[in-house]
This record gives sequence, C-alpha cells and structure tokens, in this order.
Amino acid sequence: MPELPEVETIARGLHALVQGRRIADARLLTPAVLRAGRTETLPGRTVTHVSRRAKLLRLHLDHGGCLVFHLKMTGRVWVAGPGLDLPKHTHLICGLDGGDRLVFEDTRRFGYCAVFEAGEMEEWDFFRSLGPEPLETCAEDLSRRIGVRRAGVKALLLNQTILAGVGNIYADESLFAARIHPASLAAAIPESKRLQLFEELRRILLEAIAAGGSTISDYRNAYGKSGIFQDSFQVYGKKGEPCPACGRPLQAEQVAGRTSTHCVRCQKLY
Ligand code: ZN
Repeated sequence: MPELPEVETIARGLHALVQGRRIADARLLTPAVLRAGRTETLPGRTVTHVSRRAKLLRLHLDHGGCLVFHLKMTGRVWVAGPGLDLPKHTHLICGLDGGDRLVFEDTRRFGYCAVFEAGEMEEWDFFRSLGPEPLETCAEDLSRRIGVRRAGVKALLLNQTILAGVGNIYADESLFAARIHPASLAAAIPESKRLQLFEELRRILLEAIAAGGSTISDYRNAYGKSGIFQDSFQVYGKKGEPCPACGRPLQAEQVAGRTSTHCVRCQKLY
C-alpha cells in the first residue's frame, strides 16, 4: 500500500500536471468506488492545487470542495493523454481541458474516491479521526502520544488516529533505525528512545520522498514512474538477510497483525 512518501510523490506530480486545469466532464464507470458525494458536480470546476493528508490524495477545486482518493493496495491516479487506451480496471475518468484525462484505476478495488463540497471534507468522520502528520509535528509531541498508551509500539505507529500516513514499510524501517523491537510496549520505551524513533521516522520519510517513494509491486507516481527508496531499505522485506548492523539473519514475525522484520540482537524489546 502506498504510504506517506508515495502519496506525497503522487500528489506533487499530479499538482504539476493538473493545477489550473478545468474538469470538462466526469464519467464514473464503477459506482461502488464512490464513497461520498456526486461526480456530477465536478464538470466546470478548476483544480486549484493537489495535496496529501495521511494517505489521502486531495484535488482541491475552485469552489472550495475537493475530489479525494484513497489508493489502498493497488489504486492509481494519473493523467492519460488523448487517444491513449485506458486500462481494464478504470473506475473514474475526468476529462480535462486540452483533452487529457485524469484516470482512477484499481485492479483490486480496495481504493475509493469521494467528492466533497466546500466544508464537507472537514466533517467526514474518517478525516476527523486522523492523527497528526509526522512531518508537521515535533518528536516530543509524537513521543507523548504513544508514551501514554498501553499498546505495542508497532500497532501505534500503524494506527492512523495516533499519527497519520505510516504503514508497514516505514514502521519497520524507523523501529530498526531506533533499535527498538516492534513488539515493545510503547509505554515501556524510555522517552529518549521514543524521541529517537520519531526523529528517525521523520528522517526516513524525508529521504523516501526525495527518492520518489518506494516501489513495492505496482506503485507508480503521476508520471507512471517508480520510486527508488526500496534500494535503501535496511530491514523491510529482508527476512533471512544479514542485519546491516550486526550481520545476524533478520527475523520476521507477526506484530500488530503485520509481518514485522527486525534484528533480535540489535532491536531491544521493552
Ligand atoms: Zn543486528
């Protein structure tokens, strides 16, 4: 699933492609992917900018409303030139002035879109439940948020109401960087180590954005290009490979319902 750096990369690419362009028409081919609103309200609107909140992609429109996408596992939003054949699992097509088309496709159909009029998105339960952005919140605040919880640190990192945008990749990478075992109880981790965790998380997220995100299976940015941060992974998906710090084979176990790759020698269990 695309996480914060991948959705950020897509948002920046889309912004360059669609900012200032008018939506000429909207065709919803799969009504089930629309979670809220009506695509009939889109024609005539101009895209003012594109942004990301958590793992949501938002196209802001000139009347104050927005078109939102959650890509989930295999969703993609991109701009197709005129005449290009669209893929089989295309669910929404927004014709843009000039003949290009904004395309939402999703082979597995876990992703969705939603149309909000001005002020409606802020009232959306899912949006209201989202925790703070890790790149816009200081490590002290994030450390406090998990330090008071009687729950596992990995579960809290993945919990979008605690902090937004982090998934399995960046949870495993930041826990390794801070040398914290993923099954640790958050409240048992010393504050200095919790601060280190969020400093490492922020560093890794920024590096991943700079690398255009990580390409796992079929992630592509708005230009159809893949990211390269997967080349910098220390532990994610590397079960059995030598730990980059000590050389002992990395282990994988289920933590918080997700495969968690870590080093039992380097990462302390609190
Ligand atoms: Zn190690």
